[in-house]
Amino acid sequence: MKKAIVIGSGAAGATAARALQEKFAVTVLEAGQPFRPFNYSLSWLEGLRKSGLFFDEREIRWLFPAMQIRKTDEKMVLVNGIGTGGTTTIATGNALRMDRDLKKIGIDLDDEFKQISGEIPISTAHQKHWKKTTRQLFSICEELDLNPQPTPKMGNYEHCKHCGKCIFGCPQGVKWDSRQFLQDAVGRGAKLISGCPVEKIIIEKGRATGVRAGKGFKRKFYGADVIIVCAGGFGTPVILQNSGIDCKARLFVDPVLCVAAAWPGTYQNKEVAMPFVVQQDHFMISPYFDYLSFFFNKDWRKPARKLLSVMIKLADTTVGGITTDKIVKKLTDKDKEYLQQGVDRCTEILMKLGIKKQNLFLGTLNAGHPGGMFPLTAKEAETFHHDSLPENLYIADATLLPESLGNPPILTIIAMAKRVSHLIKKNMA
Ligand SMILES: Cc1cc2nc3c(=O)[nH]c(=O)nc-3n(C[C@H](O)[C@H](O)[C@H](O)COP(=O)(O)OP(=O)(O)OC[C@H]3O[C@@H](n4cnc5c(N)ncnc54)[C@H](O)[C@@H]3O)c2cc1C
Repeated sequence: MKKAIVIGSGAAGATAARALQEKFAVTVLEAGQPFRPFNYSLSWLEGLRKSGLFFDEREIRWLFPAMQIRKTDEKMVLVNGIGTGGTTTIATGNALRMDRDLKKIGIDLDDEFKQISGEIPISTAHQKHWKKTTRQLFSICEELDLNPQPTPKMGNYEHCKHCGKCIFGCPQGVKWDSRQFLQDAVGRGAKLISGCPVEKIIIEKGRATGVRAGKGFKRKFYGADVIIVCAGGFGTPVILQNSGIDCKARLFVDPVLCVAAAWPGTYQNKEVAMPFVVQQDHFMISPYFDYLSFFFNKDWRKPARKLLSVMIKLADTTVGGITTDKIVKKLTDKDKEYLQQGVDRCTEILMKLGIKKQNLFLGTLNAGHPGGMFPLTAKEAETFHHDSLPENLYIADATLLPESLGNPPILTIIAMAKRVSHLIKKNMA
């Protein structure tokens, strides 16, 4: 049987491994370790905030190795998951179909989305457990004609215990993450090697022959007949560039900024994250307890139970890049203008709830939806394969997205990875 190497086990990697196993002998090379949820008591850590020990968001990895944090020169905090399940383990479970820009270039993923709906439970079952403040915010958005929609979530949310720990790895196992696809692939014979970062793809005479991966003395060559790069929007461009393949300086990250206030009795920290969404041109709005700001932003030194926060998630301009040593990502003037529109909108919503404008404060600018550095164009609509890549080398993750979504990308990434896997089976199995 031919050998396939899948690099990464997040949304795209786990999907590809599951789809390709049995047609190929699949090996998944995953840089991080098996995922472990964050097990510390949040109220204990809340107490520790006063000690001044939490001064840099990058410290999170000491307590929670699955969360990787980097910063741009402009102090934007960039977040991604590292380990089995990739960033899906620290996601909030939102399931939105976001393929508008793919449709524009002639890509129809209807079949793939149909398959997903049969494989991942998706519902708004969390809605019946919303707390009073969330229900009030929802009504305010309706009154303002903002058309708020309960957020569809991946998982069995009728069993959600509203602990508010979605981004720390759901302690109840309610939230779906890509480890479920990964386990399925492994159960059918795929090999998973964790703690094995891929450094580069070896290309000889125009063909990818394998990858160089591993740490220190354990670094070695893994041969393959086909390679699927799914190391995420930050990881994939680095591997490609290390392998002599140029990427486009079109990095997007979907920046997030929260507008917050003290609002006694809100208990937003004990509720499902992002219970509803409001879609606007260039950004979306959603209630969100922002733990990064809560722990590391001095303006947020209030008890968690009293904090109320609404996020703006921006569809940023596709400009920027990442290499092994550096990330360059700046907000453009247009990005700043749209972000300000979002802040104004959130201010209006929170003031209607009864909060005074002078009591509002902002969170830390952060971002966790990277992609765009090897974008699909109309030319690749049929093949999902760029001419500049060796014939047996594919990309299947967020790196392929042509534009920022300003919205949760997991479902769309899974759909793309399914299509790529289908094409690989058709062309190469
Ligand atoms: C806090 C947070 C909440 C989010 N919530 C949602 C949500 O509710 N809904 C939604 O749709 N999206 C959400 N997202 C975004 C979503 O999780 C990611 O966009 C998505 O998981 C990206 O999928 P991917 O396959 O491209 O990459 P990832 O899921 O990031 O997977 C990449 C994998 O590659 C591995 N890797 C990296 N480099 C290497 C290497 N050199 N060698 C081997 N392996 C490597 C990584 O360890 C990782 O396992 C959230 C993101 C964050 C940060």
